[in-house]
Amino acid sequence: MTKEYDKPLVENPTYNSAEWWAAAGEHRLLYQRCTNCNRAVFPPRGSCPGPDCLVYGTLQWSESHGAGRVFSYTVVRQPADQRFARHVPYVFALIELDEGFRLFSNVTDIDPAEVRIGQSVQVYWDDVTADVSLPKFRIRG
Ligand SMILES: [Zn+2]
Repeated sequence: MTKEYDKPLVENPTYNSAEWWAAAGEHRLLYQRCTNCNRAVFPPRGSCPGPDCLVYGTLQWSESHGAGRVFSYTVVRQPADQRFARHVPYVFALIELDEGFRLFSNVTDIDPAEVRIGQSVQVYWDDVTADVSLPKFRIRG
């Protein structure tokens, strides 16, 4: 845990995301699944985004095993925000979890030049403050 964490953090989780952040604090990676169309949904929301569904009240929380693949990524070398300056270069990636949802995160503990689309990754939790844990990913295996 870094006491001097200086990057942006969520300050006011919304009605839909508060439960997600609470679970993250317990190192559980939640997503939602629609009981009407079975779509895996992330980020958390109130109604299913399925174009042939769009039903309100059908999303239920599920817990991911945290295994997935690099769906896409970029290596950030020019920080858009000075609070990230001392962390470049770093890998900003779109991760596709085995359960069928995608989330943006970082792939760490690897030379950014070694990252490839399709690599298998596993979530780990970065406890950035006493109250906030962020899901990040390492190459599996
Ligand atoms: Zn649906």
